[in-house]
Amino acid sequence: MTLETAKTHDHTQNVTAATPDVSGMSCHGGKDELKKAAASAGKSEILAQYAADYPVGPHDQPQSMCPAFGSLRVGLRMRRTATILSGSACCVYGLTFTSHFYGARRTVGYVPFNSETLVTGKLFEDIRDAVFKLADPDLYDTIVITNLCVPTASGVPLQLLPKEINGVRIIGIDVPGFGVPTHAEAKDVLAGAMLKYAANEIRQGPVAAPRTAKSSLPTVTLLGEMFPADPVVIGRLLEPMGLAAGPVVPTREWRELFTAFDCAAVAAIHPFYTASIREFENAGRKVIGSAPVGYDGTADWLAAIGDACGVAADKIATAQNMILPAIKGALAAKPIKGRITVSGYEGSELLVARLLIESGAEVHYVGSACPRTKWSDADREWLEARGVEVKFRASLEQDLAAMEFYKPDLAVGTTPVVQKAKQMAIPALYFTNLISARPLMGPAGAGSLAQVINAAIANKERFDTMKEFFEGVGTGHATGIWEDTPKDRPEFRAKYQGMLAARAKAEESTAI
Ligand code: SF4
Repeated sequence: MTLETAKTHDHTQNVTAATPDVSGMSCHGGKDELKKAAASAGKSEILAQYAADYPVGPHDQPQSMCPAFGSLRVGLRMRRTATILSGSACCVYGLTFTSHFYGARRTVGYVPFNSETLVTGKLFEDIRDAVFKLADPDLYDTIVITNLCVPTASGVPLQLLPKEINGVRIIGIDVPGFGVPTHAEAKDVLAGAMLKYAANEIRQGPVAAPRTAKSSLPTVTLLGEMFPADPVVIGRLLEPMGLAAGPVVPTREWRELFTAFDCAAVAAIHPFYTASIREFENAGRKVIGSAPVGYDGTADWLAAIGDACGVAADKIATAQNMILPAIKGALAAKPIKGRITVSGYEGSELLVARLLIESGAEVHYVGSACPRTKWSDADREWLEARGVEVKFRASLEQDLAAMEFYKPDLAVGTTPVVQKAKQMAIPALYFTNLISARPLMGPAGAGSLAQVINAAIANKERFDTMKEFFEGVGTGHATGIWEDTPKDRPEFRAKYQGMLAARAKAEESTAI
């Protein structure tokens, strides 16, 4: 045993001495137990930070995909970055499957565990060995190791990993479903951890220059994943003010993190990057919310960015005058007619709703799984001034209720919302695949939604025909064509519910 291993082993023994066996728990149950276990296993500080950064309620647990998918994807998109997961095999299977479904084309490392390695602290030793084996500076700048629910609840102390091995940075993060509410915020967990690390490197001395020459103009760092053409469009909008677009965070390689700090201001295009914003603010950078979407959004955003970067009022006005007529023209040339509800978990829902309204659509409801922050205030206020009901931390139930209440011509939403809409013969579009995969900014964004939205609304007749065609084939337990239609037996369900309740009561009284 090396000196380092011996030291670490002592720590893990302390941390995991009273570790309960939570290996059988998951996001489908036992959330409170996992939380309690994590707190008693030394994770209370990080859980308190998450609770402050990502306030919950009513949507406080994964209603869609596992949150860790967000941070996993951020790491998998970075050059020379290795990714290791530590979690239950079923979680890791789901996460790797989804990553490859979205074209990761990278290996996802996995350190498996069982009840014994988890409880005795051997899992941490295994993770440590894996990290040492992988830390080849010819291949990697960074290794990201993520604790999923069970290792977080067990207090696997990733903070005790060396910060660097052979020049390869080691970033350990906890991304439990019981602490990080959405996959969007999990992106911030990793981006924030990377920015913090990079900020320390900057404080310590010279850092790597960007791969491509940085603009000679002061830059604006863009926060939030967006359509690849959007940063280019934003760059053109900034040019007349003597500014340029900087890197997009989450970045595609480590050295871009250094460039991200070297900016005149940060544009929080997505408003939920709380940990990342903290790092920029700690470095003295000004952060501006909202984005250049539509006419009003672009006018206000240019003014706010110009102001933050000390641009003279006449130069801001010149930039606005150069671009706003083109946006007005693009919006007028491609109008959207119809009533639309918008819901999603990407964090850009309010921006999309603004663009739809400026295109002529009637939007009554916008639901976002992300929390309300001060960087979404401008968009929320703009929407509320137009009578739109804006729900942060919207639950699936609220999204569905809004759709049923407003009876839209089109529902833009998450998979279960789209599924329900189609059942109701309402045309629907997936937010993630079909809306957030389009340009939204400046003149390119104005009008970009019209084609897909109008085509979907025009499909209503097909939905009605389908509904009519399938009418009478039954629903729920009686779905299908039957000679003897199955009978529902609610009394059986009631009986088992009663038995389960009685057992739970008996267990509770035994525990007392
Ligand atoms: S890691 Fe993800 S899939 Fe696994 S239990 Fe936690 S939230 Fe659920």
